Amino acid sequence: IITCAAQQTVVIGLAADSGCGKSTFMRRLTSVFGGAAEPPKGGNPDSNTLISDMTTVICLDDYHSLDRTGRKEKGVTALDPRANDFDLMYEQVKALKSSIAVEKPIYNHVTGLLDAPELIQPPKILVIEGLHPMFDERVRDLLDFSIYLDISNEVKFAWKIQVCFFIYFIFVHWLILQNEFRFFLALGLSILFSLFQVSVVEMDGQFDRLDELIYVESHLSNLSTKFYGEVTQQMLKHADFPGSNNGTGLFQTIVGLKIRDLYEQLIANKATAPAEAAKA
Ligand code: ADP
Repeated sequence: IITCAAQQTVVIGLAADSGCGKSTFMRRLTSVFGGAAEPPKGGNPDSNTLISDMTTVICLDDYHSLDRTGRKEKGVTALDPRANDFDLMYEQVKALKSSIAVEKPIYNHVTGLLDAPELIQPPKILVIEGLHPMFDERVRDLLDFSIYLDISNEVKFAWKIQVCFFIYFIFVHWLILQNEFRFFLALGLSILFSLFQVSVVEMDGQFDRLDELIYVESHLSNLSTKFYGEVTQQMLKHADFPGSNNGTGLFQTIVGLKIRDLYEQLIANKATAPAEAAKA
C-alpha cells in the first residue's frame, strides 16, 4: 500500500483541567477549520467525541481504566495516572495517526461507567483533549504539537457561576516536526529552546459591541487570517459562545487561526519531505 505522507493524520494534544474551557475552545477551533463539530451520527448519545469534515476531537476521559465506582474503591481521582489506560491510548492514537480506524471506549459522564466502544475513523486532524495528553512519553511522541490551557481557580469558579470577570492565560507551545526536533536535540539545549515557541498572552476587559471588534482587528497584525475581518467574522458567528464578549473568546479564535496556520505548514512540509528524499 502506498500512503501519501501529506495525508497522515496530524495529532494535536490539548491539555487542561476540567472546567478550563476545552470544549468551548474546541468548538471555536473546529469552526476555524470550517464546519461545525458534532457527535457521531446515530451513535451513543453520551459519546464525548466531536467530528467535523477536517477534525475529530477525542476526549481522553474515554481512556479511564477505572469507572467512578472503581476510582472510589481505590481512593484515586480521574487525574491519577493509575485511573487511566495509557497503553490503549497510545495504541489507538498511533493507529489513527497511521490511518487505521479504532474501536474507542466511551466513558459515560452521566453514569460514570464505561460504555460499549464506538468506531473512530482516522481524520485529517485528530485532537486529543483532556487531563493527560502529554503524560505518557509514547503518546507525547505522537503529538505534532500541543496546547496547554492554564486557568486560575478563581477564573474557573467565576466561569462556573457565570461572573463576567476574568484573567485568562494561554500557553501555546509546539514542536514543529518530530524529525526536526530530534536533529536539534543533538545540537544542545540552547538550540532546542529555539524550537519551542512559548507565548504568554494576557488580556482583560469587555466588548460592548461585538461588531466593533473589526476596529480592534484592524490594529492587530500577524493574526494568520486568510482575509481581513476573519477574526471578527468568527466571533460574530459564535456570539453565543461563552467568552465572546471578552478577550478569552478573542484569544481562542486567534489561537485557532494560528493552529490552522501551523497545520498548513505541517502538511506542506510532509508533502515536500518525500520529494526531497527522492531527490537525495
Ligand atoms: P471543559 O471542557 O474544560 O470542562 P467547558 O468549555 O465545558 O470546559 O467550560 C466550563 C464552564 O466554563 C462552562 O460552564 C462554560 O460555559 C464556562 N466557560 C468556558 N469558557 C468561558 C469563557 N471564556 N468565559 C466565560 N465562561 C466560560
